[in-house]
Amino acid sequence: MSRTLGDDFILPRLTPNNTPFFTAGTIQIQFCEDCGHAQHPPDEICYGCQGTNLSFASCPGTGRVESFARVHHPVHPALKDHVPYVIAIISVDGAPGCSVQGNVIHCPPDRVRIGQRVRAVFEEAVDPDTKQELRIPQWEPDDDA
Ligand SMILES: [Zn+2]
Repeated sequence: MSRTLGDDFILPRLTPNNTPFFTAGTIQIQFCEDCGHAQHPPDEICYGCQGTNLSFASCPGTGRVESFARVHHPVHPALKDHVPYVIAIISVDGAPGCSVQGNVIHCPPDRVRIGQRVRAVFEEAVDPDTKQELRIPQWEPDDDA
């Protein structure tokens, strides 16, 4: 399986905070165990209460396109054969007020719409330096919604 933006495109650099999101194969969102705040990207402190009692929870893997851009100009040499593509902000079901960034795939770029229901799919990759297996969240139209 090849990646949407090419197998040569930059992989996420894993940190302790983002590893669940990029490796689990489910949509992992960080929640505060004290106030319930959901946040992404994950951080060391809660943006709601500044507490540090944070954990990850699996969300249903569906969401809604809040905003998007169709990219026609390859901003990196590895992208020259992959334009146009869509980068979108997706509000995540099960994590109120929380949104993530990803590509909308398996859909012609001119068919993506604000408000469109989407579901997560995961691109598998292996970091050539660390050999860590990644499952990068992407989004496709949720025709069942
Ligand atoms: Zn909190």
